Parts: sequence; structure tokens; C-alpha cells
Amino acid sequence: MAQIRIDNLRKDFGDFTAVKSSSFTIEDGEFFMLLGPSGCGKTTTLRMMAGLELPTSGEIYIDGEEVGGRRASQRDIAFVFQMFALYPHMNVRRNIGYPLRSQGASRADTRRKVEEIARLLGITDILDSPVGGLSGGDRQRVALGRAIVREPKAFFMDEPLGALDAEFREHMAEELRALHDRMGATTIYVTHDQLEAMQMGDKIVVMNHGMVEQFGVPQDLYDWPATLFVAGFLGSPPMNVLFFNGTVAEGAETLTLGGQEIAVPVTREGAKGNVALGIRPEHVHLDTEAGYRAKVIATEYLGTTQIVTLRTEHGDIKARIPSHQKVTEGETTGLRFDARKITLFNADTSQALRSAGNEGVLSLG
Ligand code: ATP
Repeated sequence: MAQIRIDNLRKDFGDFTAVKSSSFTIEDGEFFMLLGPSGCGKTTTLRMMAGLELPTSGEIYIDGEEVGGRRASQRDIAFVFQMFALYPHMNVRRNIGYPLRSQGASRADTRRKVEEIARLLGITDILDSPVGGLSGGDRQRVALGRAIVREPKAFFMDEPLGALDAEFREHMAEELRALHDRMGATTIYVTHDQLEAMQMGDKIVVMNHGMVEQFGVPQDLYDWPATLFVAGFLGSPPMNVLFFNGTVAEGAETLTLGGQEIAVPVTREGAKGNVALGIRPEHVHLDTEAGYRAKVIATEYLGTTQIVTLRTEHGDIKARIPSHQKVTEGETTGLRFDARKITLFNADTSQALRSAGNEGVLSLG
């Protein structure tokens, strides 16, 4: 079990900066997701925390102790890679027990521990099987078993489910999360999949171009994105963003959009110039009476809900509405936004405007 803190971590590869002054804290026992698009610096950050890559500057603390100078083998962590390499000439039992045996544990202790781990992972029946013929899921379980067996302070996982097909991936994600809940060991998990991050994580840090955009619990990130990038990265479809040129006065409760007054959360900060209004599709309502007009250009049936794409004078917007609500492509309707769910951004800085009562996020004051 471990608390891990990184402070102003930076990594340069020659002239290229892969990670730019990242800081965040992972609390003891948390399932922590490092999320972002390909190339944003997730793996490099994880490798620095694990001791596999030397930071250019900044500090890494495990349980309050600075570990920057220590090698991976001295940090008491376990790494689970995407390509879960197993020793092909050993059976499952010997693969899982290998880390203990190589540390000098006795045969009897290793046997007891391996059987305990196999029960935890539900693979007792394949303990004596060769690893060659195993399914992808069982190979992953064996790889996990090998990582768990040493009872490290923390697990580092880099897209561990990346090689599995979608259905199986979801099943393994649930299994991993359940395993974490039983063991309670701090886990840091790299993914580019926002759904996976939201389903599995206690906390998420969103990275982009080597920078931390935001970190917090999944729902806060989803409801109150701190930047336009986070607004667009989380959610499927993502948050709608309407850009307009205007002014949001400090303390404003409404803004004018297309000649209509729209209620917004009370802002503590004003903004002038390029302003963006963010609203999730589930908080956009179609209302023929509403003054903000839009034309239906597409509908997508999703079972209980449908996604309707609408063209407004500020760009296209998507609404998630019940599928029984009748909409016709080509018709013109009105849009109503749930005021409490709007996030306003300064479009020049990409940062969300702060609300009257809440540091960092915008909510109804
Ligand atoms: P992915 O999911 O694609 O692995 P990532 O977010 O994990 O993406 P990193 O692997 O951390 O990204 O890489 C961040 C950037 O640093 C990339 O542009 C990558 O090309 C670059 N990079 C990583 N390792 C090295 C290296 N050893 N030398 C030079 N550049 C590197």
C-alpha cells in the first residue's frame, strides 16, 4: 500500500518535452487512471514513477520518501504491461511462482502463495497447464498473478487490456476492478479510453501534450471540465461546445445567445471576446417553443435514447433524447439548455470560468 506524489515532473527527449511539469497525488489504495490521447506522455509519466525512466527534473515520492534516485527494483512496485509476456517453457504454477522463487522463497511457501493467488483469480483449475494453449484472458490472469504474488506496494499497468477484443476487455476490466477492491493496493493504470477510465477509476488525471489538464473523481471531470480539451475528450458523444463572440460579466446569471437570454451558472470571473458554452448532449432539450432555433440534420437510434444532431447559428450540437420522442430530419425546432449544467469557457485560454461559490469549477452559485 502506498501514497504516490509527483511534483513538477518533467521529461525531455533531446529538444522534445514529453512531460511538462506534472503534479498530482495518488492516495493509498486508489485505482488511479492516467488518461489522454496517444503521445500525450502517459507512458513516460508512468515509467518515471516506476523508476524505468529518469526524470529531467521534478520529484517522485512514495509514502513521503523521495525515490527519484532509486531503480525500479528498489521501489517495491509491480508492472503489468500490455504485452503480457509469460515464460513459455513453464506451466501456470511456475510462471506465477517465479518472482518468489527468484527472491529465494521456499518451495512450500511459494506453493501456498501461488494457490492463494490462483483462488483469488479463479484459475486454480489451470495451475498445471502449459501457458501455450491459454486464452487471452487466462494469459492476462496469469500475468496478473505473477505481478500480485510479491505483494508489492503498488501496481503499474500500461494499457493492460489493449490487446483484448471489446467484449472480453469489458469483462476483464470488471475483474481487475474487483480484484483491486479485494486487495486494496494502489494501482496506476494508463489508458487512452475515456470510458474505461470512467468505469474503473477512483480518480482520473487527464493529460494532453505532456500537460495535466485536470485531475479528480470521474464525475467531477465529466460534469465540470476545467478545460475545453477535457470537455471534448470525456463523454460519448462529447460535450457540445458553442463558440460565440461576446462578454460574460462578472456575476452574470444570463447570457444572450442568438437573441435569446439563456440562464447560466453565476460566474465569478468575467470574460470578453471569444467565449464558449459547453453543454452535454443529455442536457440539451428540444422544445418547439424555445427561442434558440436549430435544424435537425441527423438522428441516430440507440435503443432507449437517440442522438439528434442539430445545426445552430453557432455550429452543430448533439442532443440525447428519449427514442420515443418524435423528430424529423429537416425540421426546425427550438433548444432549451439545463442552466445548472452549462460550463462557460474563456475560448482564448481554453479554461473554464469559475463560479461564484466554487474554486475551479462552474456551478450554480
Ligand atoms: P501512447 O498511448 O501512444 O503510448 P503516451 O501518452 O503513453 O502515448 P508516451 O509514450 O509517454 O505517450 O510518449 C510521449 C511522447 O514522447 C511521444 O511523442 C513519444 O514519441 C515521445 N517519446 C517517448 N519515449 C521516447 C524516447 N525514448 N525518445 C524520444 N521520444 C520519446
